[in-house]
Amino acid sequence: MHYLDYAATAPVPASVADAVYRAMTGDPYNPSAQYDAAGNTRRALQENRTVLADALGCEARSVVFTSCATESNNWALRAAAYHGRHTGKHIITTAVEHSAVLEVLRAMEQEGYEITRLMPDASGAVSAQQVARALRPDTVLVSMMLVNNETGAVFPVADVARLLKARQSPALLHCDAVQGFMKVPCPMQAWGVDLASFSAHKLGGPKGIGALYVAPHLKTLRPLLWGGGQENGLRSGTEATAQIAGFAAAVSLWRENGAAYLANISALKAECLRRLLTIPGMARIGQGESPHILSMTLSGYPAGNIVTELGQQGVCISAGSACHKGKPSHVIAAMGLSRRDAAGAFRVSFGPESTLRDVEALYEALRAHQQNRFPML
Ligand code: PLP
Repeated sequence: MHYLDYAATAPVPASVADAVYRAMTGDPYNPSAQYDAAGNTRRALQENRTVLADALGCEARSVVFTSCATESNNWALRAAAYHGRHTGKHIITTAVEHSAVLEVLRAMEQEGYEITRLMPDASGAVSAQQVARALRPDTVLVSMMLVNNETGAVFPVADVARLLKARQSPALLHCDAVQGFMKVPCPMQAWGVDLASFSAHKLGGPKGIGALYVAPHLKTLRPLLWGGGQENGLRSGTEATAQIAGFAAAVSLWRENGAAYLANISALKAECLRRLLTIPGMARIGQGESPHILSMTLSGYPAGNIVTELGQQGVCISAGSACHKGKPSHVIAAMGLSRRDAAGAFRVSFGPESTLRDVEALYEALRAHQQNRFPML
């Protein structure tokens, strides 16, 4: 198997699975239980929260665990709009956010919010100047992702934070940082971002655990779930201690080995690009600067067929975002590619376990596809 779909999800390293297992089979206590025996469970939860907070450069109380980044995004957008309810109903985002942002905003649009969606240029970039032009006195929220999950473009979140401050805008800034966390710098607190979403499974952590960074000044953020008051009263429900242990173990691995991981990943991405461009009809899509995501097109060859055929040969890549399940990608559409280039768009993404052999297998399979099939457009 040649797995090159890390932006969809990452394999779980043994030490992460071990941390999950130990948390599940160790002390059976509820972290909120009052007897002394539960103290270790409570402390372990707090230590795991601190691992994430240290990686983010924020205080532990700013990290709220959720069930996934989709949940973090849903909550952040709704809570930010509620926060600004006396200011207005205008929201700025980009046209190329993940569906876990775009679909929430589409629902909010139907409820009366006005959404400005910034378009990327042909390279996939969105600028802080575009936000500056769209910003209004009644803007209550700007939501901009850190790294685009299809093109790997890195967005200027720090510049947008500075802009909002300079303009003394009441708008909150939310960042879907799922694809950027541990891959590019994201000191959310230092940048002045108000809310940021994270997911463990893109880093080799378990699926079904995420987090929302909540800036310290947002003391009255509207909770997601009301109940027993866990997570500082913001998201009630007994904490998913085992998944949280796995999340922290995955982040710890990245903190210890991140430089080596990124050196390997960046070198493989560069080599992959170099080799694929030797195949006739192959072109790069955008200029995504993230170390791990490469967007390419085999112009005119339907990407769905490429992905299926390569999958049968044990090479796993994705046609646009895996989350779109075969629908044409809104990201590729927003970049204004020709019909032929859009049809052939696929994503290759790398992780710590990726090797040159994976890149070679991809290259060979794509070259065979290009030679043995006819373009359909
Ligand atoms: N945001 C981005 C940019 C993503 O790439 C993904 C997953 O593909 C998500 C959000 C959703 O994350 P989760 O699977 O944790 O809900």
